[in-house]
Amino acid sequence: MSRTIEHLIGGARVAPEGPRRSPVFNPATGEQTAELGLATRAEVERAIGVAAEAFPAWAATPPAKRGRIMFRFKELLDARADEIARAISAEHGKTHADALGEVARGIEVVEFACGIPQLLKGEYSRNVGPAIDSFDVREPLGVVAGITPFNFPAMVPLWMFPLAIAAGNTFILKPSEKDPSAALLVAEIAHEAGLPAGVLNVVHGDKEAVDVLLTDPRIEAVSFVGSTPIAEYVYATGTAAGKRVQALGGAKNHMVILPDADLDQAVDALMGAGYGSAGERCMAISVAVPVGEETADRLVEKLIPRVEALKVGPATDSAAEMGPLISDIHARKVRGYIDKGVEEGAKLLVDGRNFRLQGYENGYFVGGTLFDRVTTDMTIYREEIFGPVLSVVRSGSYEDAVGMINAHEYGNGTALFTRDGDAARDFVSRVRIGMVGVNVPLPVPVAYHSFGGWKRSLFGAHHIYGPEGVKFYTRLKTVTQRWPTGIRAGAQFNFPTMG
Ligand code: NAD
Repeated sequence: MSRTIEHLIGGARVAPEGPRRSPVFNPATGEQTAELGLATRAEVERAIGVAAEAFPAWAATPPAKRGRIMFRFKELLDARADEIARAISAEHGKTHADALGEVARGIEVVEFACGIPQLLKGEYSRNVGPAIDSFDVREPLGVVAGITPFNFPAMVPLWMFPLAIAAGNTFILKPSEKDPSAALLVAEIAHEAGLPAGVLNVVHGDKEAVDVLLTDPRIEAVSFVGSTPIAEYVYATGTAAGKRVQALGGAKNHMVILPDADLDQAVDALMGAGYGSAGERCMAISVAVPVGEETADRLVEKLIPRVEALKVGPATDSAAEMGPLISDIHARKVRGYIDKGVEEGAKLLVDGRNFRLQGYENGYFVGGTLFDRVTTDMTIYREEIFGPVLSVVRSGSYEDAVGMINAHEYGNGTALFTRDGDAARDFVSRVRIGMVGVNVPLPVPVAYHSFGGWKRSLFGAHHIYGPEGVKFYTRLKTVTQRWPTGIRAGAQFNFPTMG
């Protein structure tokens, strides 16, 4: 291990100067592959200064020109998707196919940002009064910051900065310290696409760096994605300092299976949504809610052999369906949750705690795990596990299932599997969740819609990317204008009136 991951400030790599370092690991092998310099207050302040200096010229650049850089950025990302996916897997551990999917979903946001001239257009009203016209424009905010989690090291940064900078802001990105290389690579590619120096800066760090971004008066807005306790802290601290904040937090996503659902389809959906990316997705389904004992029995019977047969392996194994967890600490935490589930009386049907992979004994692997007869008072139901653990909570009725989802503190995503259009319609209108799927297990909105949960899954008024993202990264200015009678009218001798 000799690589030190650097910051990207003012268009150039900058070696970290502070004494604090953080290790980066390959989760499949447990080997340290790099180290990271955790930015000091002075380093973050310098990056903010660079971004503030770059702002006036960038904001004055015609949106169509900014959009053209986004077009070029998209082309380069397409061409280098494989390289980015490899950078993701090397530090995160997810399979190559899954990492490619992450890159593709990130690129879609860049595609959306290419249309920025159209997205910034305001409304115009003629003759709001006699010879008075009114129009509005959306203006960039200034320097904005993004703080991102480990689980989508390229996609979540791409949820934020393309739209923010296309709208005319300058940006400071603080990626997860656990897997920072993919974000850095993507930011460098943005520079290759023609982004002027200082418009997009990357500083690595932890709470010390985040706290500077949350309190420095030169930062106008903060986008955050991560766990709920930190999201709440970021929202409270950032808004107290007068900033606009959107802070997306954790989740516990339920999938309801009605008796009339196609069970094979539901099982396929649960396998992908529950165990894909080892369950480390904020939209992962972690609770299956079959309605009625018979549905539950049939579902569980079909799930057991599938979970037992899950192919777990390193990203370099193209047959692997899921990889390791992000860290040793996290793998221990997930095993601890499984212990707790057993202790609290849930029925453990498939146990992933002792999973070992030959040649990867030091990797952070936990095998696919399945619990039945989980109840709503259990810790494994209430808390986000963020691992390959699916809980089956049997529900006596559709009404109970909806009530359970609505009572949960999180409100990110949910899905209903049924063939009954009436039930689906009722579910969509009554469920208190931000993103709802009908026979779609991972209802992640496409880039021209917006992403966000309800309740304690999102703090702030705006969802992320899409039309809501444009609103978040701009402020509205409304102009009402009247021009005095000009030379066109010739000399005027009588007293002017409004009539
Ligand atoms: P995390 O909250 O630990 O870290 C997120 C970011 O906050 C990182 O950049 C980290 O450096 C920083 N951070 C950590 N502790 C901090 C502190 N005390 N003060 C200030 N900053 C701090 O989250 P994570 O473990 O990287 O990511 C997993 C979590 O993210 C899960 O809860 C998952 O549900 C959530 N997530 C949510 C969404 C969503 O869209 N709602 C998307 C992806 C991930």
